[in-house]
Amino acid sequence: MSCLFCRMASGEIKPNTVLETPDVLAFHDINPEAPVHVLVIPKAHIANVGSAGPEDVELLGKVLVACRHVAEQTGIDQSGFRVVLNTGGDAGQSVGHLHAHVLGGRVLAWPPG
Ligand code: 5GP
Ligand code: ZN
Repeated sequence: MSCLFCRMASGEIKPNTVLETPDVLAFHDINPEAPVHVLVIPKAHIANVGSAGPEDVELLGKVLVACRHVAEQTGIDQSGFRVVLNTGGDAGQSVGHLHAHVLGGRVLAWPPG
């Protein structure tokens, strides 16, 4: 299995896990861009939002609800946080398995770079 995040979802590689459900895994980003920077992935492989279809609707909903729970667990739900899904080259997607970045713990600039 070559996909890095599939290997984490299967337990072959153990990330620094924040939250796990039967369908979703959340773990700390290895190179945090904010005091809180957690990645939330569906365990099933979806490349990115650009390849998501009607069959993925329920799973993507679970990813977003997991982002909320991550924000609560990491204490950024009241101060505010950002959920980012980089999709494709111009957005800087570097891992080809859909992942939501949950960022917070400081004031986040807008627009992003
Ligand atoms: P992207 O650039 O695709 O939106 O985000 C990929 C993210 O995955 C980056 O923020 C990067 O730091 C993170 N990442 C890459 N490899 C690993 C890893 O092996 N472990 C963890 N925890 N994060 C990783
Ligand atoms: Zn994958």
